[in-house]
Amino acid sequence: MNAAVYARVSTDLQAEKGYSLETQVQACTKKATELGANVIKTYVDDGYSGAYLERPQLDALRDAIADKLFDLVVIYEPDRLSRETAHLLLLTQEIERSGAKLEFVLTEYKNTPEGQLFLTIKGAFASYERATIRERTMRGKRGKLRQGKVVEDSGVYGYDYDKETNGYVINPYEAGVINRIFKWYNSNEKGGCHSIAAELNKRRTIPPKGTRWHMSTVRSILRRQMYTGEYYANTYYHGRVGAKKEIRIPRDKSEWIPMKAPAIIDKDVFAIAQDKLSRNRSLSEFKRVAEVYLLRGLLFCEECGRKKHILRTEPAKGMVYYGCAARPSRYTSSIKCPSKYANVYDTDAIFWGLLEKICKSEKSLLNYVKGQRSKSAAKSDNDVEAYAKKLKDIAREREAVMQWFNHSLLTQEEATKRLTELKDSELMLQRKIENADSIKKESTLNASAICSMIKNCPATPEARRAVLLQIVDKIYMKRTDNSYRHNYHLSFRILFKD
Ligand SMILES: [Zn+2]
Repeated sequence: MNAAVYARVSTDLQAEKGYSLETQVQACTKKATELGANVIKTYVDDGYSGAYLERPQLDALRDAIADKLFDLVVIYEPDRLSRETAHLLLLTQEIERSGAKLEFVLTEYKNTPEGQLFLTIKGAFASYERATIRERTMRGKRGKLRQGKVVEDSGVYGYDYDKETNGYVINPYEAGVINRIFKWYNSNEKGGCHSIAAELNKRRTIPPKGTRWHMSTVRSILRRQMYTGEYYANTYYHGRVGAKKEIRIPRDKSEWIPMKAPAIIDKDVFAIAQDKLSRNRSLSEFKRVAEVYLLRGLLFCEECGRKKHILRTEPAKGMVYYGCAARPSRYTSSIKCPSKYANVYDTDAIFWGLLEKICKSEKSLLNYVKGQRSKSAAKSDNDVEAYAKKLKDIAREREAVMQWFNHSLLTQEEATKRLTELKDSELMLQRKIENADSIKKESTLNASAICSMIKNCPATPEARRAVLLQIVDKIYMKRTDNSYRHNYHLSFRILFKD
């Protein structure tokens, strides 16, 4: 660790009793050594007043600090550095900003009234400075916006960013797509956002991001006011929720800054789309409030291990299903699950019937739990071993795929496909190992409480769901029939909460 020691005496020796250069340097060197310094450089200003910053050795020290040469700076007492609070603040900040630590030999300084005052001022100064820097950047940004200049290229679909003019220019291809989306949506020609996304994928239209169009992509395009040529900037800021999550918080309308962009969509066309969007939205929100799906979020697939989602295949008829997502997502899946969808209402009814049967008595519930455990535990030990071996195989193959790709034996597309498949298998195996582990744990299930909750549960979907959320951890389902509807053979594996 590199340390610097700074000492100073003024010409007025009378006032400097007990502060001989020798005393200072010795005490400082000792302190630096104690703090772990092995290289110590000494700066001494002999005969300079603490009222001024212009001192030859102090200058040299400041240059060295700016070059980040030290990890530690040791000084006898703050007034050796300066007698002026403002200068002291400046120097303290220079040192700390370089990443070095500042230490005084007279540690009790912190506890003196002067010390307390200094530290308070220092704290206030630091936060004041942070605030001014932020304000300065914001002011710069807003100033630029007010001149009609785009602050930064936010990669808006439909436009290219022109660096020279700090503005957007229309991208003809993307603008064409945007026009088509608005036309389809307003005329209902291709249905809603979902169907438009599907149509665009079918036509192999290049999406703004990623490889596919999604409903949300289409909707955000329909919502972007910028396409009318007039929009607002500075409409929100980023706020923090909890430790990590950041959310957008809308600003007061008075702070919004009107902006102009080349228009892609006619204002009337845009207005029609907005009207339609908000009508559809309130409809779907109403639906969401009205329907309670008993097993939502609790149901998992016995065949692929994935969570079963709520799927609407025929929105017009109000048909709602539990099913495994077939589309690839971030977490899964090039593997398509073989399981069939199951109608939500039938599934919920069958499940509740089964649950009532299991929870008929304390004894039957405990038997069920015991049976589940012994059944799974018997095979789980062997399984875990097999899973672990498979995981190793996967790691090895991944290595090989990378090698082949590096030697151009595979195209990027082939490599990506194989790597995604491997990732899927890996996730599934990890999930199975987790399952097996959880089975091994001792149960501390309160059977009598569960039974009475089920028995006394009012026969409404809301009440049933509330009870279920309290007692059940996960439910695995498998559908074993080949029929279409209303003749379901469903088997459930219920994992109760411990
Ligand atoms: Zn599945």
